[in-house]
Amino acid sequence: MNIHEYQAKQLLAKFGVPVSKGIACKTVDDVTKAFAQLGEPLQVVKAQIHAGGRGKAGGVKLVRSADEATKVATDLLGKTLVTHQTGPEGRVVKTLYVEAGSDIEREMYLAVVMDRAAQAPVVIAAAEGGMDIEELAAHKPEAIARHRVHPVKGLMPFQARAIAKHLGLSGDQAKGGQKLVTALVKAFMALDCSLAEINPMIVTKQGEVKALDAKMSFDSNALFRHPEVVELRDLNEEDPKEIEAKKFDLNYIALDGNIGCMVNGAGLAMSTMDVIQLKGGKPANFLDVGGGANKEQVTNAFKILLSDKNVKGLLVNIFGGIMKCDTIAEGVIAAAREVHLSLPLVVRLEGTNVELGRKLLEESGLALQTAASLDEAAEKIVKAIA
Ligand code: GDP
Ligand code: MN
Repeated sequence: MNIHEYQAKQLLAKFGVPVSKGIACKTVDDVTKAFAQLGEPLQVVKAQIHAGGRGKAGGVKLVRSADEATKVATDLLGKTLVTHQTGPEGRVVKTLYVEAGSDIEREMYLAVVMDRAAQAPVVIAAAEGGMDIEELAAHKPEAIARHRVHPVKGLMPFQARAIAKHLGLSGDQAKGGQKLVTALVKAFMALDCSLAEINPMIVTKQGEVKALDAKMSFDSNALFRHPEVVELRDLNEEDPKEIEAKKFDLNYIALDGNIGCMVNGAGLAMSTMDVIQLKGGKPANFLDVGGGANKEQVTNAFKILLSDKNVKGLLVNIFGGIMKCDTIAEGVIAAAREVHLSLPLVVRLEGTNVELGRKLLEESGLALQTAASLDEAAEKIVKAIA
C-alpha cells in the first residue's frame, strides 16, 4: 500500500524526521488560505499523486504570492498529470500540498528498502540526489552506499555516521543527517514499510538537513497491525477493479493487454500469461481466484474481467484440485449468462471432476470453446480475437 507525500511527511515527522511545515488542500480556496496561513515568502505547491517525477511534469511549483498559489492551484487541481511513473494515462490531481519553500544548497538521496537478498532493511544513500537514482546506479554504482540494518537492533550509530559521511555532511550537518537517517529507519521498522524514500534529502542555505520529498510503501501483510496507516489509504489512487477484487478475496492486477485471464494459483497465472505471450497474445490482467474459490467468487471474477474495456476475449485456465472443475464450470456458465457474454471465451479445465465440468460447459449452449491443454487454449483465444 502506498500513501501520499504529505501523509508520509506527517508520519515521518512523528519519528523525528525534519520536514517543512505544510497544509494539504482539496480546493483552490484552501490553497489561497494555506498560503496566507503558512505566511512564508517562498512556498511550494505540490500535486499529490501516488507517483514520482512530478517535478519534471509540472506538478511541483514554487510560488511567491497568494495570487500565484491560487493560479497554480487552479491549473493543477483536476488536471491529469502524466509523469514517467504514471504510465501514459496519468493520474488526476485531487489534492495539493502547500509547503513552506526551502532554499536548497544541495540535494541528496536516502532510502530504506526491504532487501530480500539481505533478509533485512537496507539503507541506500547517495550524495547526488534529486536526479534519477536508477541512472546513478547504472553509470556510477560506487556513488551509492548500502548499509544493511540489523533486523532486530536497527541502525547502529556507527552506520548513521558512515552514511552521513558518505552523503558529504560534516559538523552540525552530519549530526542532522545522522538524526534523519536514524529516524527514517525507526519509522520504517515500526510501521512495517517495504520502502521509505527521501528524494531529495536536502541541505538548505541556512545549513538545515531535511526531507524535501517522501515516499512510503507498506507491507500489506502487516497492515492489520497499523490501523492508523490503513486510514491513509486513498482509493482514488487504486484501480477500481483491484479494489472490487479484494472485496471478494481475489488477487487481481491490471495489465495492458487484451486477453482477460481467470486462473487459480499464482504460479498457474504466471505460466498462463507466459504462454499467451508466447502464442502472440497479450494478457489484460492477472486474476487469481485462489485454491478454494466458490461459484460466487468465480462469477465476481468474471464480472471484474469484463468491466475492463480493453478485454477482447477471455481465457479461463483452472486446475481443479481443492476447487472442483464442475464448480468452475457452473460459475463460468452463470456469469456468462448474467452478463450476456458476447466476447470469445476459451475454457481449459483439468483435474477433479473434469469430465463433469466439460459436460456442463458443452451442454450450456454458450458460444464458448474448450481446450484440453494450455497451449491449445492460448492458441484458440489469440486466434479468436485476431
Ligand atoms: P518529484 O519530482 O515527484 O520527485 O517531487 P519532489 O518533491 O522531489 O520535487 C521535485 C523537485 O522540485 C525537487 O528535486 C526540487 O529541486 C524542487 N523543489 C521541491 N520543493 C522545493 C523547495 O521548497 N524549494 C526549491 N527551491 N525547490 C524545490
Ligand atoms: Mn522526489
